[in-house]
Amino acid sequence: MKVLLIEDEAKIASYVTKALTRAGHIVTAIADGQAGLIAATTDPYDVIVLDLGLPGRDGLEILGAVRDRSISTPVLILTARGDVKDRIAGLNRGADDYLAKPFSMEELLARVNVLTRRKGEDASPILRVSDLVMNETTHIVTRDGKTVHLSQREYEVLHFLMLNSGRTVTRTEICEHVWKSALANDTNAVDVYIQRLRVKIDEDAAEKLIQTVRGTGYVMGAKKP
Ligand code: CA
Repeated sequence: MKVLLIEDEAKIASYVTKALTRAGHIVTAIADGQAGLIAATTDPYDVIVLDLGLPGRDGLEILGAVRDRSISTPVLILTARGDVKDRIAGLNRGADDYLAKPFSMEELLARVNVLTRRKGEDASPILRVSDLVMNETTHIVTRDGKTVHLSQREYEVLHFLMLNSGRTVTRTEICEHVWKSALANDTNAVDVYIQRLRVKIDEDAAEKLIQTVRGTGYVMGAKKP
């Protein structure tokens, strides 16, 4: 996947570039807002990772310019932790997801994978963890061949867990991804949704697929070493 990274902090840019390159992506890193705006609106990319505070043009201007030109490339914005105003402005302007700084590379890679997967036209719409199967196109979920009826939010939480199967996802990550927020109240909501999903998916099955990682979050399926 071709990734455009617009980030002026050299350390973060080099760190992110290395991690994305190692994961098999082709990265173009740009530190200046104006140059970033030109690249984002003229060259085709599969995903744009966009810092908001930039010299020249800020990230929101770049995002606005991209969406004004009807370019639908997924955009992941990078924001300062707790900067709710920026985050909301970014999502309102058409960002697909956001990540608060500081973030782990694992988290960044997971988000980029979700965004590029969503875009990939030839990607199979079927996600599978053991006998739990999710069709991303029809939103039909089955366990052992039986249909599981989920609310929209339950589906979104389960989808995020399945996309990241084998990796521990934190409550904050689930909140940021599903609720687009990381408020303490919402992390409690995560537990409520996990409980509902367990009743619908795991209660009647011998193999429990949703595991609690104490003090951290949850993992779907067997945890990868
Ligand atoms: Ca910056």
